[in-house]
Amino acid sequence: MSDRPKYVYDFEEGDGGDKRLLGGKGANLCEMTRIGLNVPPGFVITTEACLAYLADPERRLPPGLMDEVREHIRRLEAKTGKGFGDPANPLLVSVRSGSAISMPGMMDTILNLGLNAETLQGLIRQTGNPRFAYDAWRRFIQLFGKVALKVPDELFDERFEAIKARVGARSDLDLGADELAEAAEAFLEVVRAHTGRPFPADVHAQLEAAVRAVFDSWMGKRAVDYRREFHITPDIANGTAVNVVAMVFGNMGEDSCTGVAFTRDPATGENRLFGEYLVNAQGEDVVAGIRTPKPIQEMAQEMPDIYRQLLELRERLERHYREVQDFEFTVERGVLYCLQTRNGKMNAPAMVRTSVEMEREGLIDRRQALLRIRPEHLEQLLFPRLDPGFRGRPLATGLPASPGAASGRIVFDADTAEARGRLGEKVILVRVETKPEDIHGFFAAQGILTSRGGKTSHAAVVARGMGKPCVAGAEGIRVDEAARVAVVGETVLREGDVITIDGSTGHVYAGEAPMVEPEFTGDLATLLGWADEVARLGVRANADTPADAERALRFGAQGIGLCRTERMFNDPARLPVVVDMILAETPEARAAALERLLPMQREDFYRIFKVMAPRPVTVRLLDPPIHEFLPREEELVREIEALRHLRETLAGLAVLGQALPAEGAGAEAARALASLQGQTVEQALARKEGMLAKVRELREVNPMLGHRGVRLGITYPEIYRMQIRAVLEAAARCVQEGIAVDPEIMVPQVCTAKELEYVRAYVDEIHAEVEREAGVKVPFRFGTMIEVVRACMRAGRLAEVAEFFSFGTNDLSQATFSFSREDAENKFLPLYNEKGILQDNPFEVLDVHGVGRLMQITVEWGRRSRPDLKVGICGEQGGHPESIRFCHHIGLDYVSCSAPRVPIARLAAAHARLREDEYRFD
Ligand code: PEP
Ligand code: MG
Repeated sequence: MSDRPKYVYDFEEGDGGDKRLLGGKGANLCEMTRIGLNVPPGFVITTEACLAYLADPERRLPPGLMDEVREHIRRLEAKTGKGFGDPANPLLVSVRSGSAISMPGMMDTILNLGLNAETLQGLIRQTGNPRFAYDAWRRFIQLFGKVALKVPDELFDERFEAIKARVGARSDLDLGADELAEAAEAFLEVVRAHTGRPFPADVHAQLEAAVRAVFDSWMGKRAVDYRREFHITPDIANGTAVNVVAMVFGNMGEDSCTGVAFTRDPATGENRLFGEYLVNAQGEDVVAGIRTPKPIQEMAQEMPDIYRQLLELRERLERHYREVQDFEFTVERGVLYCLQTRNGKMNAPAMVRTSVEMEREGLIDRRQALLRIRPEHLEQLLFPRLDPGFRGRPLATGLPASPGAASGRIVFDADTAEARGRLGEKVILVRVETKPEDIHGFFAAQGILTSRGGKTSHAAVVARGMGKPCVAGAEGIRVDEAARVAVVGETVLREGDVITIDGSTGHVYAGEAPMVEPEFTGDLATLLGWADEVARLGVRANADTPADAERALRFGAQGIGLCRTERMFNDPARLPVVVDMILAETPEARAAALERLLPMQREDFYRIFKVMAPRPVTVRLLDPPIHEFLPREEELVREIEALRHLRETLAGLAVLGQALPAEGAGAEAARALASLQGQTVEQALARKEGMLAKVRELREVNPMLGHRGVRLGITYPEIYRMQIRAVLEAAARCVQEGIAVDPEIMVPQVCTAKELEYVRAYVDEIHAEVEREAGVKVPFRFGTMIEVVRACMRAGRLAEVAEFFSFGTNDLSQATFSFSREDAENKFLPLYNEKGILQDNPFEVLDVHGVGRLMQITVEWGRRSRPDLKVGICGEQGGHPESIRFCHHIGLDYVSCSAPRVPIARLAAAHARLREDEYRFD
């Protein structure tokens, strides 16, 4: 026996579970064969063969590979009773790529391989259908020419269109055998002219060239871009397999058809067969959107027997795979073949619904129901949709191909979409139809609109996979990509015009339409309920106002992990009082301003506690440097100038006894006058000058490392005291009203236990006062942010004072890397990511090896001195699934993130628990 690896497996031989070796499609063909589905016979050339070929600098096929292939062709001949290259009874095959991960449309496929001038005649004799045979022949020449011989597609298209135009054919269905034969001749000529050689007649040479082309397509630009975008690294999928399958024909007459179907509706998740088919057609017609297919339900009338078989196939597929399947089928003269099946790509609402329903049907258990949905996928549920009250008249309507709504400027090609998208513009990619090479345009666009093609066209499938809204086949729109216009009746839309598409209804509107926030469906609530039962980590939200708190609750937050109190100060009605407090020259004057702020903050806390009752609410005491509440220096200088000017103008006019002129400097002065809001010019000037002096006095070279957080609380104790009082009085009121309240007072920027003790002393004193005044017991907990490296190193000592820790990983990442969180992301971080110096942006994804390590030590030391220390995270990374996994691993009690990420975090927390055994961290 040879010690060469085995490179080729018959479908009966291959291990259906080995996607790495056989690719997803190949493994499935083996699996389907094994479970007795009617699959056309064939074999798989392994990904190992592909890798060996790609590793050879001269791109030679691995030794012995083609001998093995010949042997398997012989077996295929025996199974089908046909001969490869046999003019009397020709065997034709399809040659398809297929890697471990499905990459729809990214690599190449060749159909009808094995045709040449002689076998063509055999096919005609065999089928008695010259039209069909010539059609297969011309398709093969074009596809093989494009894929294996690199002849530009347009060269064929031009010749084909010319023939169609000459005979007045609107579609290729209008062409007869003679025209198709003429097209084939023309195509042979195109190949000869372009390559300088005749089209290969030897069927084995055809097969070898096709295998090489498929292997090469793994390194093609489209495929490489796709892998980069979806982070498909070699450990996930390495190389493509090649599937060689005996052809079956859906275009052998009216009792033949071809189609694609999902075992459930991929847009809604509804439990019914969903798909499209075309009678007397070949698979590529459906996928390319050349003819608009019929909904599968019509088959119930048109081909009732086949329809029944399809329903049966759907059952068998789901029972076997326990997952929604996306399958291709062909009916050749009344016989149904299943050509491929894979897990269906669905949008988030459909994933959620099918998870819940399949669990109820007993197809999967809860663990599987949770694990089959990627947490990030839920993001789609947070998409806006059109305001139901919107009554705009649609400009056109196509197929609702991928739900959600989007507005943006029209662009007619993927490159423009990418260029404008990069500048932050919202664009809608508008095409007649899309092709795999448009993929970068999909990434950049808010949504996709095509004028041709069905719900399983390329545009629809890719958009659904990405969760972007898509309207497909809006045939009322005439898209002229060259002229860069889209015409709908009288309306001409040009590049740059704004449109809105609604992928849930298929409507297209001119201009921007109003949108609303999404709501949760019952199924999502059920699924997330299961997630909460499984998860050990709690999920809270970062919320600063009562309205935020309500939203957080709607998203299922189990508390508030961070209430940034400074956001309350920014309210326009309060800012002047905050400014008074900052400008105060004495503690008494400051106390007077704070006295006015106290009821406002108390009211806010009371309302937040009430909304969240009985859940915990972590209130963080003032954090940012106080100069942030004052205008910028340049602004103040300008305003002071204007006021001085106004003062002079008014004085001059008073001397002359005149009013302000309406133009020139007078208008400027009038504006300044209007901004005085009841103050005299002198008063306004004095206040602005006071602010300017304060801004200059407070200026710091490094405000991020400056006078902020607990340092403010120690230098201006009145501020923290007011806030502590507001929290405790609000809590006391809740207790009095019978509202369960669980407030947590949190101190930011702490680096020593002494700081914490200092603030704790205020809390104890005020707490005693509040309880005395209110006559009730007021519960609270006292804790600290951990966002300073020293705090991590002193965790044990801090935990003697703090009852809880909350990691502020925004600041902690800044401090650990010494990267300014304000600047790094638009300066060097993108390049760092591009060059692979850093895998991720540490302000988005927790750097587990550096920041994470610090956190782990902190938790360990903190709990050593206080075993019941509660620990959470409230930096941005708290809403990121991979970071959540790490937080679970180091034993945090909860994560806290922005409200819309709460559902994602809940599911991620469940995943972290369910997959904890697999987690590796070094
Ligand atoms: C943090 O630093 O992670 C944090 C939550 O606080 P802020 O972003 O307000 O500084
Ligand atoms: Mg911080």
